[in-house]
Amino acid sequence: MKLHELTIYQARSLLQSREISAQELTAAVIDRILEVDNDIKAYLTLTPELALEQARQADARRAAGEDDPLLGIPLAIKDIICTEGIPTTCGSKILEDFIPPYSATVVEKLRAAGAVILGKTNTDEFAMGSSTENSAYFTTHNPWDLTRVPGGSSGGSAAATAADECLGALGSDTGGSVRQPAALCGVVGIKPTYGRVSRYGLVAFASSLDQIGTFGKDVTDCALLLSVIAGYDPRDSTSVDEPVPDYLSALVPDVRGMRLGVPQEYFIEGIQPEVEAAVRAAIDLLAEMGAEIVDISLPHTGYALPVYYLLAPAEASANLARYDGIKYGFSFPDAADVWDAYRKTRQYGFGAEVKRRIMLGTYALSAGYYDAYYLKAQQVRTLIKQDFDRAFALCDVVLCPTSPTTAFKIGEKVDDPLQMYLSDVFTLSASLAGLPGLSLPCGFDAQGLPIGLQIIGRAFDEATVFRVAYTYEQVTDWHTRKPPL
Ligand code: GLN
Repeated sequence: MKLHELTIYQARSLLQSREISAQELTAAVIDRILEVDNDIKAYLTLTPELALEQARQADARRAAGEDDPLLGIPLAIKDIICTEGIPTTCGSKILEDFIPPYSATVVEKLRAAGAVILGKTNTDEFAMGSSTENSAYFTTHNPWDLTRVPGGSSGGSAAATAADECLGALGSDTGGSVRQPAALCGVVGIKPTYGRVSRYGLVAFASSLDQIGTFGKDVTDCALLLSVIAGYDPRDSTSVDEPVPDYLSALVPDVRGMRLGVPQEYFIEGIQPEVEAAVRAAIDLLAEMGAEIVDISLPHTGYALPVYYLLAPAEASANLARYDGIKYGFSFPDAADVWDAYRKTRQYGFGAEVKRRIMLGTYALSAGYYDAYYLKAQQVRTLIKQDFDRAFALCDVVLCPTSPTTAFKIGEKVDDPLQMYLSDVFTLSASLAGLPGLSLPCGFDAQGLPIGLQIIGRAFDEATVFRVAYTYEQVTDWHTRKPPL
């Protein structure tokens, strides 16, 4: 087997038995990047020298008897997560020259666990988008069909994982940005419970929704990565001081007696028939394995999209006020006065979608409209959460499609924001309710494009989500297929 094709778990055992070194593994993955990334364009920044140096250190640590969970494993980081000394652009011109003076907690945790950082992956600008086409730099291409999008906003991380340009990756998910690209690229991705993972050093988009998640080539890798980055962090006041279970020991291939909820509102008009068929077939398979299928209703599902597109832009408009050209980032050089400097910095620094969100959000928060929009949306958000509370009295997890369609063509939706927003219609609710959601491969459409099954769990019950996903994975081989590169 080629080294870049290894899963983290496989590589780990070869490293432990000294059959391979971290340096060999890292060099092989860097070669793979050089071979395919001209076509895929998953990476915004590559740090090969640093990666090889970290691999050397990993080999030295292993020689000294250490065996940390990710010792010598090469990973990719979405470029919205701060990395000390390495550019962090958020896919935006406004942060083109920004080099963070500190690393995010998740990056520190990965490094402490021995991971090797390969570079930073492409994203829609400030994670606003579903295709990476809103990146100010370039669009990432789907490894399964280079004329199609990888999904977004963590499209670079998903594509890099699918194309074996890393062994696993971090992304961020505000309304679907880990799960939707995982589905479109045929890899596994989880958005943990809000508060499960520290957001310290994650550049803020919509703070009440943002959460860092993990990508893996299979469920085991996704779980292993989450177990490393999860946990309370005093530097993030919204991180929760709950014990983190050992996710690997949750990987028991058994769903007998478990209750799987299927929400009627998620099989709607507009869904690609092959997506519905594949998801229903996955549900049937789990039923054959002994799970009980429960029909449930999440009646406020139809409000998720409008609620999200009030709350997320409102929070974004406040969070993005800091990009004024004074403290860091792009600064318009020839401004007449300070107001002109603010205006021009933001005019030239931000792209169209970011400006659209700032305008929507500023409007929704303005005096006289706050109660009608922001407050009302918060109230409906509570109703959406209560839908899940009621559902979880009847079932242990919820099963539904991750995305209504497989990967769409580059350019197909750029001029139609509503169509673009609709690609997250199935992921937004779990985000609004703060719940964990995972996407894993459950089939392919007639054009050979991957389809994702979404599993939503109770708050802080990622373990059960992983268990259902793992059980399904044991009897299917979708996750082992490779894109024709
Ligand atoms: N596509 C959604 C948006 O554009 C979600 C993005 C995300 O999760 N970061 O807001």
